[in-house]
Amino acid sequence: MNKKQILILGGTTEARDLAARLATREDIDVVLSLAGRTADPAPQPTPVRIGGFGGVGGLVAYLRSNAVDLLVDATHPFARRISVNARQASAESGVPLLRLERAGWDPVAGDQWVRVSSVDEAATALGHEPRRIFLAIGRQEVAAFEAAPQHHYLVRSVDPVEPPLDVPSAEYSLARGPFEIEGEIRLLRNHRIDAIVSKNSGGEATYAKIAAARALRLTVIMIERAQPSDGITAENVGDAVRLVDHLISPDKKRGV
Ligand code: NAP
Repeated sequence: MNKKQILILGGTTEARDLAARLATREDIDVVLSLAGRTADPAPQPTPVRIGGFGGVGGLVAYLRSNAVDLLVDATHPFARRISVNARQASAESGVPLLRLERAGWDPVAGDQWVRVSSVDEAATALGHEPRRIFLAIGRQEVAAFEAAPQHHYLVRSVDPVEPPLDVPSAEYSLARGPFEIEGEIRLLRNHRIDAIVSKNSGGEATYAKIAAARALRLTVIMIERAQPSDGITAENVGDAVRLVDHLISPDKKRGV
């Protein structure tokens, strides 16, 4: 059987789940691609390649030399560069692209969100008065909060923040989701947190902090996504599997 080759750009729970679903199929070979940011990545259900491709040109070369039939961009909603590269590489190579992007969260009754459009705006939105802030945005962009050194920061990330924040008062918590609401409430109480900074990542694995903030009536500075995806998009793994079937079907190749 001529197996279809699928490359999944990953680094998310959804990418891992989709890879696991496709790994059971005999008509498909799947490779999952990780950026290599996490020192000790979670185990993955399919063969993995690790590290950048070297921009659009490198990704196009990879698609061609591995005769990839379908590219799936299942990277994090806030991983913008790689998604732009994926769109360009798909256009240049003619390899179809499927975007798997979970929906963002919407506020519900009791939420006190301040919605901002960037990490820099989030730092400003914390205000002048010193407060105790929980930064739950990963480690890559936390340096933006050095612009607001009057606050105390509790920073949670999977890998250590290196170098540490250049602010007078910060502490660090290393943890990998999923998180439970009881644990998040305990964390926020123990550290006497006044406000949380979060990305509007969507999904369940990291929603507990938002629910915990609601329960404790804390403000959430919510960093919103830049723009919705265009192109062929699935919001969940089930829909992605159906679209994969459509995109790799022989009818599709004939343009039916
Ligand atoms: P980014 O800014 O969009 O990408 C920067 C560069 O990293 C890309 O140009 C590419 O290098 C490489 N890269 C990114 N994702 C890759 C992948 N899956 N496979 C191979 N190379 C990849 O990405 P980021 O925000 O640093 O995120 C890096 C990874 O962490 C992504 O896989 C993402 O899914 C995951 N993640 C990100 C966030 C977040 O908040 N940003 C949160 C959770 C998980 P080349 O140009 O050399 O190909």
